[in-house]
Amino acid sequence: MRYDSDILIAGGGLNGPALALALAQNGLSVTVIDAREAPLRADVGFDGRAYALALGSQRLLSALGLWADLGPKTQPILQIKASDGRPSQGAAGFFLNFDSAEIEDGPMGYMVEDRHLYTAFLQAMQAHPRINLISGTRVTGQSLRDGLVEIGLSSGKSLTGQLLIGSDGRDSQTAKRANITRQGWSYGQTALVTSVHHSLPHKGIAHQYFMPTGPLAILPLSGGHLSSIVWSEENSLAAAVQALSNDDYLAALSPRFGDFLGKISLAGPRFTYPLTLSLADSYVATRLALVGDAAHGVHPIAGQGLNLGLRDVAALAEVLILAKRRGEDLGALSVLARYQNWRRFDTTAIALGMDSVNMLFSNDSVILRTARNLGLGLINAMPKLRQSFMRQAAGLTGDLPKLMTGQRL
Ligand SMILES: Cc1cc2nc3c(=O)[nH]c(=O)nc-3n(C[C@H](O)[C@H](O)[C@H](O)COP(=O)(O)OP(=O)(O)OC[C@H]3O[C@@H](n4cnc5c(N)ncnc54)[C@H](O)[C@@H]3O)c2cc1C
Repeated sequence: MRYDSDILIAGGGLNGPALALALAQNGLSVTVIDAREAPLRADVGFDGRAYALALGSQRLLSALGLWADLGPKTQPILQIKASDGRPSQGAAGFFLNFDSAEIEDGPMGYMVEDRHLYTAFLQAMQAHPRINLISGTRVTGQSLRDGLVEIGLSSGKSLTGQLLIGSDGRDSQTAKRANITRQGWSYGQTALVTSVHHSLPHKGIAHQYFMPTGPLAILPLSGGHLSSIVWSEENSLAAAVQALSNDDYLAALSPRFGDFLGKISLAGPRFTYPLTLSLADSYVATRLALVGDAAHGVHPIAGQGLNLGLRDVAALAEVLILAKRRGEDLGALSVLARYQNWRRFDTTAIALGMDSVNMLFSNDSVILRTARNLGLGLINAMPKLRQSFMRQAAGLTGDLPKLMTGQRL
């Protein structure tokens, strides 16, 4: 049976391109369709949007051949300090301090700016002879016919393949069209995202303050004097803060931020993201698999969203390449079920874990405040437990797919 590509990928954000590269590098032909115009996203200049990539994700990027160029533009995360805090009082005395010197694997992760990561994916996709990237076009429909999947595009064209991947984000229409239902809720919080310049160097230390209305993360960026801010607040307060002038915004941020990095000033544009949990009830259907936020959109409290998505990518690529070598039908449910069995428990457990952490910390109850401070202090006092948390944060635990350990498929 003739078809256009072995694999059709709806959504060329971050997880879609990563999967396209992993599959194309192992002999499959792939078409990636993305609603956004690729060059517009690649050419934004510094805008401060960045991801905390766990060590496992860095190993995947390395195995895909992207790290040699990307690595020098990133900032290693050498320590993570977490503490309970209040806007006017700064951080509480009990610190949880993760120091990468305590694990043998190196930095726990790396801060990478969206513009660098996306551009690395884009250039690698454009250079690969087995990847066809169609940007500025939407996938508008999908149907099964004659042992293939057929998708309709906003350009009026249609394409066929053995398998459709939904990597079209947490509002995945690909999942909806396959009647895959979702569970989830809004956190009633919005993330205010921006970047700040500070007069003192960050020394590669990431900070997480658990404020009663939501967490504030201060994440070190490359260069030593820039940090990315993810500041979660209850929706109406976040809307009011976002409406402030830059000077007033800085005045609101400053008492939460504290003065440990000296004088601070805004260094980039300001973004907002409504925070929701959105978990697909199934990650697969006949000739369809979901990856990344299309499968599970989580709270950014521990910077795990993209890391979870890249684990999906690594697991699905491993399942599909093994199936190809065995001569199996890549779209068969029996093949796709291996991917779902591998990933669904892990992502649901982490998503609900993030949810509980957010609930435990985003309130001002005296009892909970005392208990969590004691909890942070206790974990900090137990080196073995601390190291186990660190290895988990670095993405080094569990049943890791090969790409997450830096091995090629
Ligand atoms: C404030 C904030 C901070 C975060 N920080 C971190 C962090 O530090 N570390 C981390 O690991 N994660 C973090 N995340 C999570 C991370 O941003 C997401 O998990 C990740 O971007 C999801 O990538 P994706 O490719 O699955 O989806 P998306 O990035 O949402 O991409 C979906 C793509 O699909 C395209 N699309 C949609 N519909 C169609 C269609 N019909 N046809 C064609 N294309 C379509 C869109 O144009 C888009 O390009 C954070 C998230 C937030 C909100």
